[in-house]
Amino acid sequence: MIEAVTSEKIEDRAGDEAGWLVVVGLGPGPDRWLTPAASAVLDAATDIIGYGPYTARLPARAGCEVHASDNRVEIERARHALELASAGRRVAVVSGGDPGVFAMAAAVFEAIEHGPVAWRGLDIRVEPGVTAMLAAAARVGAPLGHDFAAISLSDNLKPWEIILRRLRLAAEADLVIALYNPVSRARPDKLREAFAALGAIRAPETPVIMARAVGRPDERIALTTLGEAPGIEADMATVVIIGSSETRLIARSGTPFVYTPRSYGAAR
Ligand code: SAH
Repeated sequence: MIEAVTSEKIEDRAGDEAGWLVVVGLGPGPDRWLTPAASAVLDAATDIIGYGPYTARLPARAGCEVHASDNRVEIERARHALELASAGRRVAVVSGGDPGVFAMAAAVFEAIEHGPVAWRGLDIRVEPGVTAMLAAAARVGAPLGHDFAAISLSDNLKPWEIILRRLRLAAEADLVIALYNPVSRARPDKLREAFAALGAIRAPETPVIMARAVGRPDERIALTTLGEAPGIEADMATVVIIGSSETRLIARSGTPFVYTPRSYGAAR
């Protein structure tokens, strides 16, 4: 039997001699979406490590060193964090949203699995955050009210054919689909390709939410349909939610509510 790890309060550890490493989710943007537990870790850390735009969001604090790095160097960043924790530092590795969703937590565990055995004995935890699709869903209603799939369109770490296959199968399973990393410089048309693959299976009037920079001053939310979605611009700060056959709109003055009923077949 594997025993559950009891989570200690971070405050109890702040004075410890031993180092620790916590992978922290910063939420989608605004401070009010940063959990108190994540805040406590950031306050107790001697070192904060992360992709530059994320570390830039955090206020500077005396006694805390910030190590901002480039994107796409996740494993190096994770190893660096583990080395610092091994040397007795209190390290927060930060990710936007939730650190377990297409982010640093998996990179840290990958580094641990392939790194020195001593790293397995370190005090390592993950502090969750609000992931982008949940923040986006909350803006429009409850589109994730029934089963859904989250798929990253980034083909840095998996072949595009696998992504297309997952999209098709998720559409065939009639899941609501949240797309992360919808565009990239290397493959500017992949979102269009994804919409085409889904459009071959799902009706053109299926509701689609394109939610950009949710929670930030430049937030923009577009409610559209699968047929119209390819005409709407998306960038790397956009998460896209594509409804299932059950996802529906509730008309009212202003933007309709979007929701997916809890029971399947309720709409028929
Ligand atoms: N760990 C992050 C996801 C990292 S992948 C999380 O849990 O949210 C990066 C992708 O997340 C972006 O390409 C975009 O699709 C999505 N994203 C992150 N923050 C966002 C925000 N504030 N609004 C909309 N989408 C966001």
